[in-house]
Amino acid sequence: MLETKQRYKSDFINNKNIKIIFFLAILLTALLLFAFFRDRDTLITNRQANILYTNNKIEKLILDGPYIHIKTATNRYKIYKNAINKTAFFEKYPVYVVENNSNFYDFLSFIIILITLGLLFRFLKENRDIQMKQFESANNNMDTNVETTSIKPIISNITFNDVAGIKDVKEELEEIIDFLRNPKKYHKLGIRLPKGVLLSGPPGVGKTLISKAVAGEANVPFFYQSGASFVHIYVGIGAKRVSELFQKAKQNAPSIVFIDEIDAVGKSRGEFRNDEREATLNQLLTEMDGFEDSSGVIVIGATNKIEMLDDALLRAGRFDRRIHISLPDLEDREKILKLYLKYKPHNVNIEDIAHMTVGFNSSALSTLINEATIYAMRNKRASVTTSDFEAVKEKVIFGKHKILSFTDEEREIQSIYQGAKAVIATWLDVEFDKIGIVNSHLNIQEQEILSKTALLSQIKVLLAGSVATRVRYNEQFTNAVSDISNAKDIAYKVVNEYSMTDSFTPSANEVEEILQESISELNRMLKTLDEALDKVSKYLLLYENITQEKCRDILRAIF
Ligand code: ADP
Repeated sequence: MLETKQRYKSDFINNKNIKIIFFLAILLTALLLFAFFRDRDTLITNRQANILYTNNKIEKLILDGPYIHIKTATNRYKIYKNAINKTAFFEKYPVYVVENNSNFYDFLSFIIILITLGLLFRFLKENRDIQMKQFESANNNMDTNVETTSIKPIISNITFNDVAGIKDVKEELEEIIDFLRNPKKYHKLGIRLPKGVLLSGPPGVGKTLISKAVAGEANVPFFYQSGASFVHIYVGIGAKRVSELFQKAKQNAPSIVFIDEIDAVGKSRGEFRNDEREATLNQLLTEMDGFEDSSGVIVIGATNKIEMLDDALLRAGRFDRRIHISLPDLEDREKILKLYLKYKPHNVNIEDIAHMTVGFNSSALSTLINEATIYAMRNKRASVTTSDFEAVKEKVIFGKHKILSFTDEEREIQSIYQGAKAVIATWLDVEFDKIGIVNSHLNIQEQEILSKTALLSQIKVLLAGSVATRVRYNEQFTNAVSDISNAKDIAYKVVNEYSMTDSFTPSANEVEEILQESISELNRMLKTLDEALDKVSKYLLLYENITQEKCRDILRAIF
């Protein structure tokens, strides 16, 4: 892709074009200089000329077209021929006559302008031709100029051993690996597998790495494409690329197609139309609908903006398996650090480092280790120590890639916030896997049929954090933003979509009423659960995550 982009670029700015631009610039400069220096004499009035005349300042007079130029010892002036008493001036001072060559100058200017315009026209035409050629060859699928030929799979030698932590994610992907290894086994039993897996989560948590590991484990070819690379300026190129990609993947099946930053293609269509993106997205949908389960192609999409994806992509038969990867928690950070430090001479307390890197993603951890090693080396030490990490931590946090790292105060706020969600969810029987300080992703179990009570309980869980921090700190914080927005969404659906109120034509404030009632009830519940919240938030400060089981144990011990 990069190669082809550069090819386009070099087509555009080839040597010839550079020469033309250079030549044009010289011509224009010459024209400007010519106009500037051609006549710089100051135009003066009759009175000023007379003063020069009587003060004997004039050295000579030069007759040039409609002007008489007056030269003094220090300056040059000019005046209209008819504005002075010519006889008196000509008698007193020497007069020179300049051949009338202004026509020649005007002619020269005219020629220069013509040449400039001609070259400019040719330059624009040539560029248009190049772009037309690119467009046409894309349309005709002529492989000469467009990047379609560059779609090649890689053979991944990465395995799950190279991916530290994220055990749940690995488990979820085991089945897909097994399918890719032995698709026939699944076909015989008529088992359908998802065509697409969507990995969502913040950047740098290993979405690409784990996908490569799936390919490596299953020993199948891996086609990497970034979503942005599909979307071109010209309508149709992206769609062509998508169809070429799937064609190649099918030829190489079983195989994996990995589309990084799929939101670049699959962004919700919304009010701003973008024909190229839409054409590309439609092609992607068609391809995914078109291939049989038996084709042996699995599409893995990665995004950190799942909420922005077009619903069409998430519909059954497309990316119907979704896996969220969160920032690594304490335990995972320890595993990642251990993996990265495996071949480095060190004397480091990994647990301590894991504790001081709340909010770091895997790539930030890798940068941190690298910096610490460099620091140790500069200080002429053969092995890295914990203090090297402390010395470079700030540098990594405030470095090129800004890392979301909580301060102690922020961790405390989060522990109350997420702790309250965990306690209320457990109290109201809303199931979840884990709730954590950095992983605000509440994995509420999805069900086909939900009761109104269940939906109202979900709203309460989502609002519990902000109610609890308000009680504790008498303050509101921005960490509640996505939970509040989700709570509002559910309340809106309860009223307007599921018609779970007394009236089928609900009034505008019914959504508000549901939210306010939830808040009043939460205030009451949190009073009863005060001690539990204390314990859970302390636990969170220590371990970052809490499972529902642990939370139940804490509640049971109190009630
Ligand atoms: P994403 O696709 O989510 O943005 P990447 O897969 O590109 O993240 O990972 C970023 C960097 O962090 C890579 O160098 C990758 O090898 C490393 N990395 C990410 N997750 C892990 C992990 N679980 N174990 C080991 N290294 C990881």
